[in-house]
Amino acid sequence: LFESVELAPRDPILGLNEQYNADTHSSKVNLGVGVYYDDEGRIPLLKAVHKAEVARIEAAAARGYLPIEGLKNYNKGAQELLLGKESPLAKEGRTLTFQALGGTGALKIGADFLKQITPDSKVFISNPSWENHRALFERAGFTVENYAYYDAASHGLDFEGMLASFKNMPAKSIVILHACCHNPTGVDPTLDQWKQIVQLVQEKDLIPFLDIAYQGFGDGLEEDAKVVRLFADQGISMFISSSFSKSFSLYGERVGALTLITSSADESTRVLSQVKRVIRTNYSNPPTHGGTIVSSVLNSPELFALWEEELAGMRNRIREMRQQLVAKLKEHGVTQNFDFVLSQRGMFSYSGLTSEQVDRLRNEHGVYAVSSGRICVAALNSRNIDYVAKAITQVL
Ligand code: PMP
Repeated sequence: LFESVELAPRDPILGLNEQYNADTHSSKVNLGVGVYYDDEGRIPLLKAVHKAEVARIEAAAARGYLPIEGLKNYNKGAQELLLGKESPLAKEGRTLTFQALGGTGALKIGADFLKQITPDSKVFISNPSWENHRALFERAGFTVENYAYYDAASHGLDFEGMLASFKNMPAKSIVILHACCHNPTGVDPTLDQWKQIVQLVQEKDLIPFLDIAYQGFGDGLEEDAKVVRLFADQGISMFISSSFSKSFSLYGERVGALTLITSSADESTRVLSQVKRVIRTNYSNPPTHGGTIVSSVLNSPELFALWEEELAGMRNRIREMRQQLVAKLKEHGVTQNFDFVLSQRGMFSYSGLTSEQVDRLRNEHGVYAVSSGRICVAALNSRNIDYVAKAITQVL
């Protein structure tokens, strides 16, 4: 049965973790991951999460099946974070939200449903993008192509190239957009640029699929939802995958959501019934624990305020690490300008390091980064930053 099965290539980032774990360097640092660590180098358990968890355990609630679309209050809370509490679209019955198994699960349900309703569409992802975007949409049966995005020379956005790519897309193409804190580059369009993108999406009759996995890590929960609301204000039918993995530090609980904007309440009823079939035939219904915790926090003013404060703490610590990295590189005598690191947003930075330099960082200093030069700024801390800055200085 399995004779003809070929060995699949290793996941580049998980492969890096394995190598890191086996490394015996005493001062090794893993900047290859996509996880937020606190200044002690630990994945935090947020206080808001802990409080909600304690309350849940005390309530000793039964664990029956959830509805196919998930917890009602979870979905309401997730949707309000994206569209605001007073969304006219919600009032018109044009919004649907499904609890999903992380952002990945939301993308997968969305991809499967899109294959059902528009099987001949092409999918376009940014060059570069989160590596699972391509794999996920290809596995759902789509052809996946790139649109221009990152400009290595300026360490910024190739906006002209991006517009040109969009102009060449066939009508009904599905375009995956990172709504904030682009992974892997940390480079986001400005709000004015987004307005032009929204206009092109409408003119060219494209299907936007917004992916927002880092809401709150850019400028704040409301600020980071601006792009979603720009699209929503135009009433464009679209898909949004959102994730609480990072913002709640609940990676293993698989907490995400798929939100759809339709053009009428009647359409919503039909779409709801079909997306439920997609979920039912994949995993039937989502798990209770993580969803209940997130829902408790989103729906309690007190826990919400605590969460927002903790999220701001994570966001500010990352900013501080960006500043210190740039300052320390200068201190150690690096002459190249690394100021671009300060304007990148979210957990990542495309550092501009070449794959040879990344190899040397790993082999000579035990500092792990992705071969593209992506580093996770959220894995830097007050104890390792000087060592990392010195190591980078030496390989430059
Ligand atoms: N989209 C992007 C852009 C991501 O970076 C990630 C996770 N790193 C996801 C989706 C998936 O999120 P989750 O871990 O919640 O599945």
